Amino acid sequence: MDSKAVTQFLAMNNKASLFNDASQRLENALQHVEISEDAIARLRLPKASLTVSIPVRMDDGSLKIFTGYRVRYDDTRGPGKGGVRYHPNVSLDEVQSLAFWMTFKCALLDLPFGGAKGGIIVNPKELSKAELERLSRGYINEIADFIGENVDILAPDVYTNATIMGWMMDRYSTIKRQIIRGVVTGKPLTLGGSKGRNTATATGAFYVIESVLPKFNIDRQATTVAVQGFGNAGATLAELLSQAGYKVVAVADSKGGIYAPQGLDIPSVRKHKLQNKEIKAVYCQDSVCDLVEHQTISNQELLTLDVDILIPAALENQITEENAADIKAKYIFEVANGPIASSADKILNQNGVKVFPDILVNAGGVTVSYFEWVQNLSGWYWTLEEVNQRLKAKMEAETEQVWDLAQELDLDMRTAAYVHGLKRLGDAMDAKGNRDYFVK
Ligand code: GLU
Repeated sequence: MDSKAVTQFLAMNNKASLFNDASQRLENALQHVEISEDAIARLRLPKASLTVSIPVRMDDGSLKIFTGYRVRYDDTRGPGKGGVRYHPNVSLDEVQSLAFWMTFKCALLDLPFGGAKGGIIVNPKELSKAELERLSRGYINEIADFIGENVDILAPDVYTNATIMGWMMDRYSTIKRQIIRGVVTGKPLTLGGSKGRNTATATGAFYVIESVLPKFNIDRQATTVAVQGFGNAGATLAELLSQAGYKVVAVADSKGGIYAPQGLDIPSVRKHKLQNKEIKAVYCQDSVCDLVEHQTISNQELLTLDVDILIPAALENQITEENAADIKAKYIFEVANGPIASSADKILNQNGVKVFPDILVNAGGVTVSYFEWVQNLSGWYWTLEEVNQRLKAKMEAETEQVWDLAQELDLDMRTAAYVHGLKRLGDAMDAKGNRDYFVK
């Protein structure tokens, strides 16, 4: 195995590298699975990383250059697959980590995809809609040779949405002089999107939560939940949980949060956020909303609330060595990618906190992306019931397998999830020929 390349690669990153931290999970899982050395060597490094400069004409006539990335981590099991993130803190290190997680997520769910990810360093809230469109189309201009419906397929991620996916697919089709819907998923329905894609991450997480909690004899009504992140995934999941009878007592967005021990009326909170762009503890009847009793809390305070279930649904690295010991929740379901640093895993495990990992919990998004791609390639579109039924079947089946593996090998759920994905990745890599095949 050429470990020199790996050492050199990891050394290129700085100490706080997210990728180096993400790699820890792989190293940990490798102790519990037998896969060939060839496969391990390949899995330790991204296959290809592209950095682009995107010139964008701004509304005031000036030209601004944005930096964008697309990383294909691995494509042994199929074309690269993963979202595109717009955020001021995007970096190559982050995109590589996210592409790494996509690789394991797709293998874990047995989707015929490898892992990829993209990102642009930008605060989209500072751009006009027209500038955002020019940036999104400009990104495709620069990466068009690197992607394709059978090469690498884009999707939404933090601060990107269906409208942006529509622009990207449209631009790619213009460049290629033919309509190629399958190069981007998460598109608007009228441009070949799938029913249920918009709510898929939350719906998938809901199915995971619902299949796991009965194993611990949990009663929904008596279960309190705190959700960090009130974007598409966090807000939709909070609503699904409260509809099902769970008591959602705290939610927060990037500006801060609210806590009401008696439980929040999530549809009202969502409605208020949509209209006023801020989170407030309100109860609405028709168009009249009243403030209800609550405390305002910071994002950090939300994480350490005394609740049963904690759902980090914002960004990575929220729970670290610093605050892991203060976590009081019994169960954590990671809806964000990478919200827990590897250094916090041990502390949480020691304290008996059960962590259900991102690559399983938030995989509903990419699973319905896969359904969308299948629909695009076949030209035959499914009903919402068909989508949700297939999503449920997939999420439940893989959750059950990870659960069984965790029991069988006495592993935490994260390690079991990696082991499960690793087996599939290893088998696929070995099917292309490994050392034993050539030497024996
Ligand atoms: N961005 C989502 C994720 O991190 C979805 C990716 C996709 O649908 O390809 O899983």
